[in-house]
Amino acid sequence: MMSGELTIRQGRVIDAASRLDKVCDILAEGGRIAAIGDSVKIKGREINAAGKLVLPGLIDTHVHFAENTRGYYMLTRAGVTTAIDLLGESRLFFKSFSKSHVGLNAAYLYPLLPERTVSSSNPSLNEITRVVDNALKAGAIGIKIVGGHYPLTPEATALAIEACAGRKCWCAVHAGSTESGSDLNGFKELIQLAGSNPVHIAHVNSYCRGEVLGDPVAEAVAALSILRKHDSYIAESYLSAINGCSGRLETSGKPASKVTAKCLEKGGYKADAAGIREAISAGWAQVNGLSGKEVVLLDREKGLKYFNKSHGKVMLSFPVNSAAAQIAIALDRKESGEFTVPALSTDGGNIPRNCTLQKGLALVRFGALSMHEFILKACWNPAIMLGIQDYKGSISCGKDADLIIVNPENAEVEIVISSGRISFEHGVFYENENTLLAGSGPEVTEGISWREISPLWLRQ
Ligand SMILES: [Zn+2]
Repeated sequence: MMSGELTIRQGRVIDAASRLDKVCDILAEGGRIAAIGDSVKIKGREINAAGKLVLPGLIDTHVHFAENTRGYYMLTRAGVTTAIDLLGESRLFFKSFSKSHVGLNAAYLYPLLPERTVSSSNPSLNEITRVVDNALKAGAIGIKIVGGHYPLTPEATALAIEACAGRKCWCAVHAGSTESGSDLNGFKELIQLAGSNPVHIAHVNSYCRGEVLGDPVAEAVAALSILRKHDSYIAESYLSAINGCSGRLETSGKPASKVTAKCLEKGGYKADAAGIREAISAGWAQVNGLSGKEVVLLDREKGLKYFNKSHGKVMLSFPVNSAAAQIAIALDRKESGEFTVPALSTDGGNIPRNCTLQKGLALVRFGALSMHEFILKACWNPAIMLGIQDYKGSISCGKDADLIIVNPENAEVEIVISSGRISFEHGVFYENENTLLAGSGPEVTEGISWREISPLWLRQ
């Protein structure tokens, strides 16, 4: 929806960077915040936000889009205005990016997938370097090592981290290698392999499911005590009971993803097609299916039908995340007072768990986080991670008008405003161009709008 001017009246405006928390008006003009105050001059469309929260648009540093547009709609409905796709194969990424129009700011990381985007689980430095360079040229901000699911050897993992450090580009890692799993041991191995090179440790909570020490909280404590001693990483964690992994089967009949196999075994099911069917029937595995423009968790019967019909080519979700470990990780602080894991993410997008707002506000109601701390982890810290803090992640004059209006009773997002334009309002989406965030100019910019970003943690 086109909107030159917009006045949001009498909402409870909360911002972490400026420590604002008061009922006031906001004027958005030319895509930016032009005024914040008790009685700003009303211009353009007037939105009555009395009784509502007015927050910066959420910045989600770990999402998935795949090649369809659903993740864009799901994230927008969840109040996200900026996101990083952690499995962005360039061609597939641009397919969904250019087909959805929700005003989302999106960056992507190109995945190193053995036998798909790299020749094997042990690619040479030459090959890795070539793949990284091509990804950057295409518009990615860096790469993702998908260790837990599709592992590289420890040697190749270390080489890839080093190659990115040399280019000062982003390297996100889902811990795990051909020698270790997606668990506390894989996490420890990653810390060793990364050394002092900068690395984005993906979803810290997912390595603390009790598989190594038998207790998720003990594993969270162990992981946090390691992270507190390091400062060359960035990290996020999510707050959702369910994970998301591929139901695809190899010709051998085994799940293609190691995480899927592990989740089945954890629930007491065999890691094969029959085991998956049993797990779906029992409710342990939930099939991700379609509903209109979005992905939802199907009930058992529909899930089983959909799994059979698609021959396993579906996403599955298992309730494997410990709430206690997730909360411990979300709340932990270093001696300096900074959060040990700086950002709240979802690992959502087209996986139906875009629950940062719902769960984050629940922690605020519980008294575990202050409202400012929640906004710090969901908006401001992620803006700093991406290097966009000069124009996003905060509500202050001159910044992009990326704002969400939230019903505090149920944490539902009622209105999403991206660069001063409404892209979602009470269940309805409006056409609004997406913007690519890229480290340098992508080779092909025809038909896309893009913006250069320069994350500080990669420049040091
Ligand atoms: Zn992920």
